Amino acid sequence: IDDAVDAKVRELELDGAKLSTKVQRLAAIDGKFVDCASGEKLQSENPATGKLVAEIAACGASEIDHAVRAARTAFEDGRWSTLAPRERMKILQRLADLLEEHALEFAVLDAVEAGKPIADCLEGDVPETATCIRFHAESVDKVQDQISPTDPDHLAMIVREPVGVVGLITPWNFPLAMVGWKIAPALATGNSVVLKPAELTSLSAIRLAELALEAGVPPGVFNVVPGLGATAGAALAAHMDVDMIGFTGSTLVGRLVLEAAAKSNLKRVSLEMGGKSPQLVFDDVKDLDEAADHIMSAAFWNQAENCSCGSRLIVHEAVKDELLGKLKDRLVAWEVGDPLLLSTKIGSMISISHAEKVRGFIASAQEEGAQIFAQGAQRGPVNRFIPPIIFDNVDNRSSLAQEEVFGPVLAVIPFKTETEAVAIANDSKYGLAASVYTSNLSRAHRVARKLRAGNVSVNCFAEGNETTPFGGYKQSGFIGRDKSLEANLQYQESKTIWIDLASTVATGKAET
Ligand code: NAD
Repeated sequence: IDDAVDAKVRELELDGAKLSTKVQRLAAIDGKFVDCASGEKLQSENPATGKLVAEIAACGASEIDHAVRAARTAFEDGRWSTLAPRERMKILQRLADLLEEHALEFAVLDAVEAGKPIADCLEGDVPETATCIRFHAESVDKVQDQISPTDPDHLAMIVREPVGVVGLITPWNFPLAMVGWKIAPALATGNSVVLKPAELTSLSAIRLAELALEAGVPPGVFNVVPGLGATAGAALAAHMDVDMIGFTGSTLVGRLVLEAAAKSNLKRVSLEMGGKSPQLVFDDVKDLDEAADHIMSAAFWNQAENCSCGSRLIVHEAVKDELLGKLKDRLVAWEVGDPLLLSTKIGSMISISHAEKVRGFIASAQEEGAQIFAQGAQRGPVNRFIPPIIFDNVDNRSSLAQEEVFGPVLAVIPFKTETEAVAIANDSKYGLAASVYTSNLSRAHRVARKLRAGNVSVNCFAEGNETTPFGGYKQSGFIGRDKSLEANLQYQESKTIWIDLASTVATGKAET
């Protein structure tokens, strides 16, 4: 398969050898692949090598406006929004099939642009995105509207309708999967979409738009407009004819999106943002080895460029040393390396500037008195790759424990009592995810309910599956959840239709 990956990289001309003029580097608007009026380009680099892999249309306000108008027309004429549910379902299922048929291509696009390990893309991002699309496709003709109880002279129907034109803004850390989590429920519920993918990782989104057309999604329904956040993203968030923004990204930018919505047309906003997730390990754990395996995944999976990264290890002092020893032993298996090698577990940081930011957190943690307990082997250029690092005895009020580092740095914080552990875990502005490790069933339930987080895993590290909602408390989330049928709700309006059955308007006045 390593050869297959290599061949696919060359076939897609992503090896930096020459710049392709393939359509996938343009915006997808109204069923056509178009360049931007300014002719400006996003320079898409492979973050592991610094090689330029693609030039992508850097769209701005005029392309956003063009896409919003196309989406509005498509929505109003009902080519998708009023299509028979079963037809919509079939088309989205075809899209999931096509995605699976092109799994290697999508894995390569994400690995090359985001520096993610290709094995994760092949085993996780791509199949999970197909499953997510299929789940929402299947929901199309399974969820029924409601009739409300009334007296016999009235009929009250509560129907759910698409919001309309939905702007979607996504991050670079799971380029395809985050797009899938947004477009699947938005399209399944009949909306028209204008997607602005992260400027560092637009290729898989543009390719998905191409496959959507092939699957039968009508032109204008799924538009992809690549561009910078401050121009294209801001124009989408501020657009007067966009009915809703579904955003995944940092809390800082989420706030800007909310402000833009407030200052424009008060569009509906749903935000999925950052995290600083705790992993609580109690002294009654019977199998610390199994716990250690999960803790490593939570801390270092996807180079820890993961919103639900379990970056704070809150461990009972009685088992801390034993557990840390086990984590140290496991560092070897978390091999840093070329994202395109199947053996790689930790790829490159998304950019040199992001790697510098992560190193800044490491330096300031040391200045604040925290000590590096263990770290993995450095491979690849130091300005692009960071090995996994474990800091011991971290103060939960320090920046390392409070800020989202978004790099492979685990902060270990000891505790003595359950109450103290929960207090430390909840002492954060974020509330996206958490894990609890214990052999005591009552404690597992009690602590899971006390944690202020949208996703709590017990004795494992998980983000649920396509049927479970994903999103955050506090500054990790603002209204709504991704995945599951709850995701459908965010892209729908609720309408009450109240009918007076005794009205003589239709029947005429009865003879007296
Ligand atoms: P980011 O906030 O920098 O960018 C996210 C998106 O917003 C990008 O498409 C960007 O171009 C756009 N953007 C930037 N400025 C904008 C503006 N002024 N107006 C409108 N859009 C703008 O985030 P990122 O660095 O791409 O991604 C990492 C962040 O995403 C982390 O904080 C991570 O925790 C978060 N994340 C959250 C989840 C979740 O489900 N909660 C999932 C994945 C990532």
